[in-house]
Amino acid sequence: MSRPLLDTFGRQVLDLRISITDRCNFRCRYCMPEEGITWLPRSEVLSFEELGRVARVMVEHFGITSVRLTGGEPTMRAGLPDLVAMLARLPVELSMTTNGSTLSRLAGPLASAGLDRVTISLDSLRAERFAAIAGRDMLPAVLAGIEAARSAGLAPLKLNTVLVRDVNDDEVVDLARYGREVGAEVRFIEFMPLDASGEWSASQVVPASEVLERVGAVYPLEPFGARGTEPAERYRYLDGGGTLGVVASVTRPFCGSCDRVRLTADGELRSCLFSVRERDLRTLLRSGATDEELARAVEEEVAAKWAGHAIGRVTFVRPTRSMSQIGG
Ligand code: SAM
Ligand code: SF4
Repeated sequence: MSRPLLDTFGRQVLDLRISITDRCNFRCRYCMPEEGITWLPRSEVLSFEELGRVARVMVEHFGITSVRLTGGEPTMRAGLPDLVAMLARLPVELSMTTNGSTLSRLAGPLASAGLDRVTISLDSLRAERFAAIAGRDMLPAVLAGIEAARSAGLAPLKLNTVLVRDVNDDEVVDLARYGREVGAEVRFIEFMPLDASGEWSASQVVPASEVLERVGAVYPLEPFGARGTEPAERYRYLDGGGTLGVVASVTRPFCGSCDRVRLTADGELRSCLFSVRERDLRTLLRSGATDEELARAVEEEVAAKWAGHAIGRVTFVRPTRSMSQIGG
């Protein structure tokens, strides 16, 4: 019998995000230091069996309904279709967040293995700028990956764009237009202080309200759907051109409606993107813990989730892990 997994706000956690590797072929400047990070030794990364067990326990004990694979870059993990096939046997919606650069090759096998949909990160449509942001000259590969995801039926397709002031905010309308053209929902995410270099400042954040104003001036928008537990506030184009989302994590935090829990590649459970505490599940997994013991550890960590991250206030404490080590 499953029981609800409740956080500090009394909110039921239903969405598990699993970082399956800390490795990445990109070096996005808002996510990872230019020189990269020291990768975790393989022995510290959870095996497919261990990941599968945590997901199964979360489904059987807490009735979670969605599992998202992330990283680092999840497609860097060897044998990914095998992991997808294993997780696809669970009664959950299975999705993945990826930089898209390897999807030309992988979209078909992943869809065949049971992946339901993907979110692809895309921060610029200008090749030189893309290379400057991502640290890799791979815009054509990402655009080809977006096409491959569409052809493989990994739908509905979403595109994640992190806007940074004076870096790519002049492309907001171009990116929205591109989303309309390829039938994808672009989600403009406010830049969060989870960059590895620690250079985040409030002045670099492009508020969601400004995105809506600038896109809406060209393609009029109206609110769409109930907010629910989605971090994105969704809008639809009045001309029927599709939908757009904004994730106002900094200017309109949504902690009270978040239904997520995260597992890092080395098996630490995090109840919030900004947690400064974690629960080590790997040691439990490797020391013969029962499913019920694992479930209780998950419950304790989620019940200890703090009430709001307080970005921009003096009480904000920056987590030691950067975004690439947490998974987004
Ligand atoms: N490598 C994959 C990718 O890029 O989609 C998955 C992991 S990445 C950490 C997940 C998401 O986090 C991406 O959409 C990325 O743009 C976003 N992200 C990374 N650093 C961020 C930051 N400092 N603020 C807001 N979003 C960030
Ligand atoms: Fe890698 Fe994704 Fe971070 Fe870019 S955002 S460095 S692709 S993990």
